[in-house]
Amino acid sequence: MVERIEALGIVVERLPSDRLPLERDVDASGFYARAKSTLAIVVAPPSKLKLQPIAPSADWRVDLAEGCPAHCSYCYLAGSLKGPPITRVYANLDEIIGVLPDYFGRGAVTSASATRAGEGTTFEASCYTDPLGIDHLTGSLSSLIERFGRWEADVQLRFTTKFAAVEPLLDLDHRGRTRMRASLNPAEFARFEGGTSPVGERLHALRRMADAGYPIGLTIAPIIAADGWRDAYGGLISNVFAVLGDVAARGDLTVELITHRFSPGSKTVLESWYPGSDLDLGEIGRREKRTRFGAVKHVYDAPTMGALRRFFETELAAELPGSRILYWT
Ligand code: SF4
Repeated sequence: MVERIEALGIVVERLPSDRLPLERDVDASGFYARAKSTLAIVVAPPSKLKLQPIAPSADWRVDLAEGCPAHCSYCYLAGSLKGPPITRVYANLDEIIGVLPDYFGRGAVTSASATRAGEGTTFEASCYTDPLGIDHLTGSLSSLIERFGRWEADVQLRFTTKFAAVEPLLDLDHRGRTRMRASLNPAEFARFEGGTSPVGERLHALRRMADAGYPIGLTIAPIIAADGWRDAYGGLISNVFAVLGDVAARGDLTVELITHRFSPGSKTVLESWYPGSDLDLGEIGRREKRTRFGAVKHVYDAPTMGALRRFFETELAAELPGSRILYWT
């Protein structure tokens, strides 16, 4: 990783300990920007070698990194990661990959689902990072894809991304055991997704991955019920049809639908990170939902959820026949 990063002309500083001295003597936005543009190569803690289920996406979560250099004003990481938003990438990749075979055949999320058991034991690599967004620096995602290709086992790696730099993945010996999904929102909502690839480029990246034999899918997330959402998402689905209609018709375009939500904690963090954002984090049109651990999330209220869900189910069936909705949340 260090060699890759230095070859890109990026300054690498070797620290004498595991403390990262980020200067705080700047204003809040300066501190945020400094943290977002800092990547630390660290050893994953032992807890990362004990995999957790990640419903409804996959049987298991495999973390290659925590943090992301992009600037989405709804980012779920704001509520789940503590401290300044630096990106920590894990150097002990062999150790992380080495524990995965212990989990083969043991899933209780997708493996337990009548409609998804055919995917084999599934591993999600995008829980606390965007693995493609940093792969040019780490190579970790590429290594994992190749490793899944070599395992003669009924397993699947999954990753979702708001980036488009798939070129290094196209020639990997993936053997169809990695499903890439593009995380999409309409171009009208690009203001909420700073620092990511334009949505049209993400779609063409998916096309190239499909042409390279990868299974692919859409993660439409987070679905935002802002003014004009029907036209915006209708246009997005039409664009998907134009680029991937034939893949959908072949019956192997999956769709994951995730509505926007936030916790009181993530709202506080996001409002401090993105004070100028017009993303609605108010309570009108929302209801509280408790997770099984008792934490509060603000999700859309029942009428809004109902309208969104009906819209997507109807439009996807009409515009992308053959596509398969994996879940709605
Ligand atoms: S790309 Fe994903 S992980 Fe990165 S800032 Fe945006 S929402 Fe967060």
